[in-house]
Amino acid sequence: MSIDKYYSQTSMGEIYSSRMKNVDLPSLKIELTQRCNNRCIHCYNNLAAENKELENKELPTSEFRNIIFEAVELGCMSILFTGGEPLLRSDFLDLYIFSRRLGLSVTIFTNATLITQDHISLFSKVPPLNPIEVTLYGMTKGTYEEVSRIPGSYDAAIKGIKLLAEACIPFIIKGAFVGNNRNEIPEFDSWVSSLGHMNGALPTFSIFFDLRVRRDSESKNSRIESLRPAAKQALEFLTRNEDEFLAEIKSFCSQFATPPGLKLLGCEAGSKSISVDPYGMGYPCLLLRHPDFSYDLLKGSLKCALDQFKFKAAEMSAQPGSEYDQRCAKCFLKSLCQQCPARSWIEHGTLDSPVEYHCQITHAQAVYLGLITEGEKLWEVPDWKTRLSTFIEKS
Ligand code: SF4
Ligand code: SF4
Repeated sequence: MSIDKYYSQTSMGEIYSSRMKNVDLPSLKIELTQRCNNRCIHCYNNLAAENKELENKELPTSEFRNIIFEAVELGCMSILFTGGEPLLRSDFLDLYIFSRRLGLSVTIFTNATLITQDHISLFSKVPPLNPIEVTLYGMTKGTYEEVSRIPGSYDAAIKGIKLLAEACIPFIIKGAFVGNNRNEIPEFDSWVSSLGHMNGALPTFSIFFDLRVRRDSESKNSRIESLRPAAKQALEFLTRNEDEFLAEIKSFCSQFATPPGLKLLGCEAGSKSISVDPYGMGYPCLLLRHPDFSYDLLKGSLKCALDQFKFKAAEMSAQPGSEYDQRCAKCFLKSLCQQCPARSWIEHGTLDSPVEYHCQITHAQAVYLGLITEGEKLWEVPDWKTRLSTFIEKS
């Protein structure tokens, strides 16, 4: 089917029925721009909003439309627009309405600073179907702008959030556990959980900050590493609602805790979803930008990218005898740990190196939960099954 069909009302039924028959690609993620109008100290991605050279390299509207249309032909039902700051793109509303007209549910990750009455009017008439996800970097101008490093950004974010709230557009607020906003967590938790669409749930936070996803700056990486909470501080934060934390971990462990063996990619990246960057490269996920897992969508198709990623993911295994084999492959809390091929790539330029920071955090959690003692290693526990069942059954 050609994209021309999009412009004919009578063909929309054909588009919908083709999607019902074909569910190769349930979801699509598009990083519309790498640029952002904030300069957050912990950000793994952003470059300057006013960088014209970068802006000129971004795909034009028509190319993004082609990609979205092909995704729908492959059965896509939902799309994420992220960045950088996606609302920086002057064609954001165009791509939004294009996606919604194709029946996609839309998720938007935004800092809310650029939300205008035009966005509100469109979201009111044509709802995104998923709550808009706003990240707020502090409860006050001081703490927010210590992170965002843009004067006036706090007021702009609050204005955007108010516009959403006043128009009753569903949104959720997320946080980042960074800088002095760490002292505001009780206040943040209580405010966010009282918002309509949070239904009483605590906000999610970025906490174990990823290094630069394109491996583009050693100095930014050093700064991000310095902002990561130490294991003790992270644990205090994670267990601030201990009952909820324990219930979640028990449920998680009862389903997923087991040594993974040598197969490296345990998630659905590249098989159920594809991520597209502003320049037309496709990846299995927003973090995994290893050259072996990149596909130029301007020279091929989403279908080819999907086939290639599935094939590579299926054959991607660690070498017997490698450090991964000796540690992660035998680690019964691998599924709890943030180590994955993407993070190995970001931190070490490989697909299988253990990531020391995430290893420390996972070990600290395991000690806290009583699954290991101080000094024990998660890959050296012969009776892990007994320990897990004792932990899961403990009331
Ligand atoms: S608002 Fe988001 S994308 Fe922009 S700098 Fe901050 S963390 Fe990065
Ligand atoms: S805790 Fe350590 S050994 Fe276990 S998966 Fe994470 S990095 Fe690998």
